[in-house]
Amino acid sequence: MPKYIFVTGGVCSSLGKGIAAASIGNLLKASGVKVFTQKLDPYLNVDPGTMSPFQHGEVFVTDDGAETDLDLGHYERFIDEPLSKLSSTSTGQIYQEVLDRERKGDFLGGTIQIIPHITDEIKKRIRDAAKKSKCDVMLCEIGGTVGDIEGQPFLEALRQLRHEEARGNTLFVHLTLLPYLKSSNELKTKPTQLSVKLLQSMGIHPDLVLARADEKIEKKHLLKISRFCDVEPEAVIPAPTVKSIYEVPLNFHKHRLGETIFRKLNLKYREPNLKEWEEMIKRIQTSTEEIKIGLAGKYNELDDAYISVIESIKSASFYHKRKAKVVWIDTEKIETNDVKEWKKLHQVNGVVVPGGFGVRGTEGKILVAQYCREQKIPYLGLCLGAQIMAIEFARNVAEIKNATSEEFSPKARNKVVHFLPDQHEKRSKGGTLRLGSWPCKVLKDTHAYHAYKTELIQERHRHRYEFNNAFKKQLESKGLIFSGISPDRELMEIVEVKDHPFMVGSQFHPEFKSRPNRPHPLFREFIKAAL
Ligand code: GLN
Repeated sequence: MPKYIFVTGGVCSSLGKGIAAASIGNLLKASGVKVFTQKLDPYLNVDPGTMSPFQHGEVFVTDDGAETDLDLGHYERFIDEPLSKLSSTSTGQIYQEVLDRERKGDFLGGTIQIIPHITDEIKKRIRDAAKKSKCDVMLCEIGGTVGDIEGQPFLEALRQLRHEEARGNTLFVHLTLLPYLKSSNELKTKPTQLSVKLLQSMGIHPDLVLARADEKIEKKHLLKISRFCDVEPEAVIPAPTVKSIYEVPLNFHKHRLGETIFRKLNLKYREPNLKEWEEMIKRIQTSTEEIKIGLAGKYNELDDAYISVIESIKSASFYHKRKAKVVWIDTEKIETNDVKEWKKLHQVNGVVVPGGFGVRGTEGKILVAQYCREQKIPYLGLCLGAQIMAIEFARNVAEIKNATSEEFSPKARNKVVHFLPDQHEKRSKGGTLRLGSWPCKVLKDTHAYHAYKTELIQERHRHRYEFNNAFKKQLESKGLIFSGISPDRELMEIVEVKDHPFMVGSQFHPEFKSRPNRPHPLFREFIKAAL
């Protein structure tokens, strides 16, 4: 029988609920527990695939091609277990399923209601994920903040689930904020008390409270929360802001969080093995020398839009005992010859051109790629960044006039990157995006092979356009190497420039498989070249 841990958030959003949930998972896994994670998102979108990065940050892609919330990236990085479609559910998906069944007549003329039909579907999805993943502990994070209208059906479903499961099989963790008041120089616990009361009024009694604050949290605050929220003293855990998010599991461990969870779930406690994680934290703390990496994306200064890319750059840098400083390069300003922006580009040790959709800023990205190729600056292109690299090479080395992508200019003559409708029908069941994990064969004696050290790899995709094979020979004869190709030899997956310290681009997104303690080989070699 799986056990369930539910993580809710109170007082306000952006407290790091995903990181808290991921850190709990990290500790449990380190104690030998098989953990599976799930994010329940109360918004109405079916998935975040079509949401703007301004709204929602990065879309994280799983092996089986689910387009999910960026919190799944935290789960995979902290827990290092591949997730799937089962790990992500939204109100949109729940209603879609229930309404489809209603149309089919499954409810035999009954009235469809939030309770029981919507709540039943929510419980079913949680239990399905637990069963199919064969986990010992199912960790569910509920998006949003307690008190949001759209979150209520989820909380009601969890309240029911707790009663239906055997005693001691469910655990509620509530993450809240202790705001700091400068005038009185103290942290306040009242918002936490009110948030817990709100949960209790919905029939949910949190077993653990994680208290967030930027300032030092004192024993008296924890005791006060314990007293007023009716949570035992050991179960109120301080969660102060830390320098690196990866310190959070160690901080929880210091406060015996794992032990409390095991006890409350009637599991026999096993000390977690945190040796490797602790070594990683030590490396993070002692890597002080900087390396400057340019990030030439479209959403300037919007960390969340590129969170997996930034984490990959950071962890690959820590691997080489360097601290990465990400320098945002605004390619629209590069296009207009903005002196300051070019100067920023001239100062970096390497450039990443991340994924993206649409034409905005792409001419500037092509200029960035040209600069990196000519000046032999290490360059890593991720999906769109790889397509940009091929277009630049086609224009300026192979002299293919106005080479471009079908995405930027549908009617152009020389589409070096184009749409392959039948490819996608064959591969992704009629959808127009190639999603999820696809195999790729790596060519020997290339940068890619040197990084992977293996011939067959699996990487995650999320794109519509592909390299146009009609230009393959011409580009190869000029020194572009297709160093990764699908096993059926139809799709070009990795490109690199010959005789360059490191100019590599991949149609896939290596950032989704990079881990803080195991940076992705392409990022690792890119940073090495940048050093
Ligand atoms: N827009 C490009 C495509 O659809 C690249 C997508 C991406 O970078 N993920 O192929």
